[in-house]
Amino acid sequence: MPDKYNIIAELGFGGFAFLVLFLMLYTKPRKTKIYFINFLGITASIITTALHLFLIYMSSDVEIYSRLLFDTICILFLLFYIILVSLIFNYIMLLSPSLSMSLKKILTMEAVYSSIYIIVMYILLYNGKLYKTTSSGIEFTTFFYSYIIIGILSASYCLWTTIHNQKHLAKTIVMCVYIFVPVDIILLVLQLFMPYTIFISITYVLPLTIFYTMFHSNPFNEVTGCQNEHSFETRFIDNMRIHRKFTIIYVRLAGTVTDGHYHDKKQAEFIAAAKCQKIEAIKHGIHIYSLPDNAYAVFTNSRNMVSLAGRIRTILEEPIEYNGIILEIHYKMATFNNNPYITDITKLFSFIKYLNGKFSQDIENQCIICEENDYTDFFYLYKIECMLADIRNKMDLNDERVICYTQPIYSIEQGTFRTAEALMRLNMDGETIYPDKFISIAEHNGCIHALTCIMLNKVCHTIKKLEGKYDFDAITVNCSTIEMSDNNLHNELLGIIKDNHIECSKVRFELTESAMINDHDAVTSNMEILHNAGIRFYLDDFGTGYSNLERIITLPFMTIKFDKSILYKALNDEDMNEIVSSMVNIFKKKGLVLLVEGVENDEHNEYSIQHGFDYIQGYKYARPVPIAELEEYFEVSF
Ligand code: C2E
Ligand code: CA
Ligand code: CA
Repeated sequence: MPDKYNIIAELGFGGFAFLVLFLMLYTKPRKTKIYFINFLGITASIITTALHLFLIYMSSDVEIYSRLLFDTICILFLLFYIILVSLIFNYIMLLSPSLSMSLKKILTMEAVYSSIYIIVMYILLYNGKLYKTTSSGIEFTTFFYSYIIIGILSASYCLWTTIHNQKHLAKTIVMCVYIFVPVDIILLVLQLFMPYTIFISITYVLPLTIFYTMFHSNPFNEVTGCQNEHSFETRFIDNMRIHRKFTIIYVRLAGTVTDGHYHDKKQAEFIAAAKCQKIEAIKHGIHIYSLPDNAYAVFTNSRNMVSLAGRIRTILEEPIEYNGIILEIHYKMATFNNNPYITDITKLFSFIKYLNGKFSQDIENQCIICEENDYTDFFYLYKIECMLADIRNKMDLNDERVICYTQPIYSIEQGTFRTAEALMRLNMDGETIYPDKFISIAEHNGCIHALTCIMLNKVCHTIKKLEGKYDFDAITVNCSTIEMSDNNLHNELLGIIKDNHIECSKVRFELTESAMINDHDAVTSNMEILHNAGIRFYLDDFGTGYSNLERIITLPFMTIKFDKSILYKALNDEDMNEIVSSMVNIFKKKGLVLLVEGVENDEHNEYSIQHGFDYIQGYKYARPVPIAELEEYFEVSF
């Protein structure tokens, strides 16, 4: 290497770029835009640096100098340098959603300028104007200056567009540009004055590495400028630890008025970026974090949540122009602040889930300002959720928190109670919780199967106790729709029955029509195996869902339970009355047993008897009672 040049920095940064490239190969995710651009950039940096070093090496000795090779490398180097510079500086500009719209125009313009530049440089090279051959080597400072100038111009253009587009760019991007682009310009100018100490590779390896660490996977999204979910968690935890007051505005963007949904990912990104930037600009200290499902959390330490929510609403409701079309977006938002209930990150995310459940499907735009009762309602459900998860994890078939009630069912023909339905309640710190509060939570959290197993075990205990002493047919257990698609369900249920040493015919299962919609094969196979073992099935809540009579008839049901709503409607509506009468006839012809629920008074009772129902369940005959009291309803057997 020539003594004239100090290439330590160039070698160092070339090596560093190698290291970054190596690290990138071990990074995930790899399919993001930022990864692709950085990978391209770092690879181009290594090639550019290598070409540059080769030029310096060749220029040191006239003996190894070959004109054709030197000129070719010069052109190649320029080509890579131009690619690098446009990659870095264009990328920053294209992060602005409004500029990215004119992507094609910008790229064509640049391709034209670059081609002109390369052609001019080639002509100059050809005419020997860019470097001189001397006895001590090649003197190519003119060539050197010509591309540093290009670097300075590109960086300045980038700075200029950022200043002009500041309003349309994420704060983080603007900050990055304001710090690193001037540093790059200073370095390039220094390089201009120190042509023999080569460090130009810093000006491209450094910005690429910074982009990579800032925007690849953590923590900022380069388009919206939002930080990710983990940063949101950290911010929340930090604020909680130092007891700092805060307001969080949860915003979920839904769609455009044209069809209720975003047309494409790009449009969704454009809208999100534009709205986020406006919200961030409301005042200092507002930070936005992106959450799953096109949702965002606006976090601020100001406590004036009503006025802030109002301003955010105004921003969200402003129509936005995209590709010449005016779009109106739909949103759901909820504002909340510190409270004694949301004290950790698990509760925070549960609360967000709770808010999503509170949003109405019928209203397009909705803004909830949370009050004390929202926090207490949430906390009550949260406690149930935790308890259900604990019940599932412990999986104790005798868990005392699961309470089994039973409602005796009356046989019209025999004039006595012959069966009973097991109904679940939960005991939470001494308070009884009813199914309407916990069944759907248990179904969504994957706890329902544990509850069914516990209920079945308790029912089996009672059957064992009553068997032989009392005259009854069976006790029915409710089985959730979700469980029926589990291929292994029959094994577990039969296992519990067998462990209790009772006859399978004493246990029956109730399924709702929605179970039939699910995985058909699994439902049929579970039902058939259990049916062959002697277990009978009831179709629950008939008349509340979409009835597929054909399927009902092909599945091994013994009894159809008419829902109370059908009974009440039939009493007031002649058409409904006719439907019920013909349904009863069809089912009877098929040999099915008919049961009616919700019989509360004499009118209900008479109707049920006259219409040929076989069994009656309702408050008129018996209310649900703790399973220990069930024996009082059955006759003693002799
Ligand atoms: P379901 O299976 O339709 O149970 C009958 C519900 O109707 C019971 O409410 C019962 O108390 C109520 N009921 C009985 N007679 C009358 C009456 O004459 N009038 C009126 N208005 N209501 C009456 P409960 O116990 O609150 O249970 C509600 C629902 O929760 C059940 O509806 C069932 O879908 C579900 N559920 C209860 N226990 C379990 C269980 O162990 N497992 C599963 N998966 N679900 C259960
Ligand atoms: Ca039932
Ligand atoms: Ca029912």
